[in-house]
Amino acid sequence: MMKKLDYEKLLMIPGPTMVPNTVLTSMANPIIGHRTKDYGELLEDTVEKMKNVFMTENDVYLITGSGTSAMDMAISNTVDKGDKVLTITNGNFGERFYNICNVYGADIIRLENEWGDNAKPEQVKEILEENPDIKVVTVVHNETSTGAKNPIEEIGNIVKDYDALYIVDTVSSLGGDYVNVDKFNIDICVTGSQKCIAAPPGMAAISVSEKAWEIIKKTETKSFYLDIMAYKKRYDSKKETPYTPSVSLTYALNEALELVLDEGLENRFKRHEKLAKATIGGLEAMGIELFAKEWARSVTVTSAKYPEGINDSEFRGLLANKYGILVAGGQAQVSGKIFRVGHMGEAREHHILGTLAAIEMAFNELGLKVDGGVDVAKDILRM
Ligand SMILES: *Cc1c(COP(=O)(O)O)cnc(C)c1O
Repeated sequence: MMKKLDYEKLLMIPGPTMVPNTVLTSMANPIIGHRTKDYGELLEDTVEKMKNVFMTENDVYLITGSGTSAMDMAISNTVDKGDKVLTITNGNFGERFYNICNVYGADIIRLENEWGDNAKPEQVKEILEENPDIKVVTVVHNETSTGAKNPIEEIGNIVKDYDALYIVDTVSSLGGDYVNVDKFNIDICVTGSQKCIAAPPGMAAISVSEKAWEIIKKTETKSFYLDIMAYKKRYDSKKETPYTPSVSLTYALNEALELVLDEGLENRFKRHEKLAKATIGGLEAMGIELFAKEWARSVTVTSAKYPEGINDSEFRGLLANKYGILVAGGQAQVSGKIFRVGHMGEAREHHILGTLAAIEMAFNELGLKVDGGVDVAKDILRM
């Protein structure tokens, strides 16, 4: 039995994000056989659109699985026990790469920066100079847990001069912030469906460069479901996936990518940038201190510290239950200390204004006098 759902809530969380109606209704298309010509055409078209969004000529595969499945595929197909890996961490998703590398027995060098800050390209260069045997470098573009972003273009420019493969997680940036897989020299790029692309959760994508294939071919097969060679063989020979894909989610991802490309990537990046500025400006005008360092701030998610005396669950409970707006709390070491506003995917100006107004009202109800955030956001949005 289906419970009554709170479908009216605004999803101002950093994923899953609000999904346009044409994407939702595309999932009502008939379930077709996944070994048919029709599915092959749908898959190929979706893969080609994904390549455009990744800005790459490299091979791209879709996985029925969440973003983490693509992260797991990236590592399990390139890292053998004892291989040296450099993991760049400054938040929970950087930690996830670290944890995955641990599962496969990698010899890990951690480059750790404070949460809220970002990685510095010079640090990466130094470590690569000292450790020419590093096989893989992992980094998260947009650290969703802290609202900080890493300079993946600059880091890519360094890694390309070494043997190491450059693996980048763009789950919460692709389709919202500028990512150019080929220009940034990214060997393996992973993303998910439910963030800036604004499709439902459940699909992931991965791009693979020539340099990555060379390594993959020499790496032991450690996962059956995520064996990338199986994806390659099936796709090359028949435009199929090795196992049954989610047919419905393929329709949805195809339609969502169509909308992304219709809006245009440039326009989409500008929209995200503007919404980020309005959110940041609005919160700062209320006197709320932001969590991510100024030079590191994401354009898809904004994190802020709770002022003295504000309780996380009370605040987010009010926003959700009285104003119908979901924002996220902090994860792991910043749980209860920060909140995060996602402004990615289909977020528009009215969502930001509504969210800031509700945040002001919730703070006021909890005894904190704040004001003026919406006005400042309006000014920024007018520019
Ligand atoms: C959401 C997210 C993921 C993947 O999470 P799933 O729950 O597996 O989809 C990975 N990396 C980043 C940066 C994310 O924001």
